[in-house]
Amino acid sequence: MIQLHNLHKRFHDLHVLRGIDLSVEEGTTTVIIGPSGSGKTTLLRCLNLLEVPSEGTLELAGHRLDFRSGQKLRQTDVIALRQQTGMVFQSYNLFPHMTALQNVMEGQITVQKRSKDAAQDKALKLLDKVGLRERADMYPHQLSGGQQQRVGIARAMAMDPKVLLFDEPTSALDPELVGEVLKVMKELADDGMTMVVVTHEMAFARDAADRVVFIDQGVIVEQGPPGDLFERPQQERTRQFLNRLG
Ligand code: ATP
Repeated sequence: MIQLHNLHKRFHDLHVLRGIDLSVEEGTTTVIIGPSGSGKTTLLRCLNLLEVPSEGTLELAGHRLDFRSGQKLRQTDVIALRQQTGMVFQSYNLFPHMTALQNVMEGQITVQKRSKDAAQDKALKLLDKVGLRERADMYPHQLSGGQQQRVGIARAMAMDPKVLLFDEPTSALDPELVGEVLKVMKELADDGMTMVVVTHEMAFARDAADRVVFIDQGVIVEQGPPGDLFERPQQERTRQFLNRLG
């Protein structure tokens, strides 16, 4: 579903991603872990071109893009690729003046050109799936952080993405609200959604990931199934990182 080859990202003099090769199979969950500043979020944002890679190749759901520094991307390529991905952010980013239902309907109507009825039907099903059917008419400020994030997930799903990208989806939540969001994500993973998740929640990585990718200083140091990576890390840097987590 996703192939990255020799992907680099520079912010001026800062060389953040330094040759990433990564493959994500359809229907799998990949969890990206690593120290602060190692490039996890940047890598995720490169997958839907919120950041434009400086060099390398990205293939996602049949769309292939080659990057060279200084090259301008074609808008049609950006749109085509974005349509294949849904993104869930740390800070929810819901529209504050719209209800939960309207938030999940909005993109369906404006981008997908669905009828209002069809959009509402789908939005209600998705809100039901994330356990918020009863709160469809509430505004974001009337919902807890965990509930807002679940609306964010429903909204991303409403666009029928081939891949769901999660950027530290529980980092802004009070600890007691983290579990309800991870539970929804685990259900999506079990349903066979293709997901790439940047998170510090190691229990989720153990429980839900098919593959865990450890990044440090812009390179993939080690990757593998969670059982291998957590129990039998091959690299000293991975061991040190895991030991620090305790
Ligand atoms: P954390 O776990 O703390 O969120 P991370 O592994 O996700 O960290 P990134 O957010 O990808 O790390 O950042 C990697 C490096 O790139 C950091 O040094 C950061 O300051 C830098 N960086 C990220 N975005 C930009 C930007 N838009 N402009 C300049 N530098 C940036």
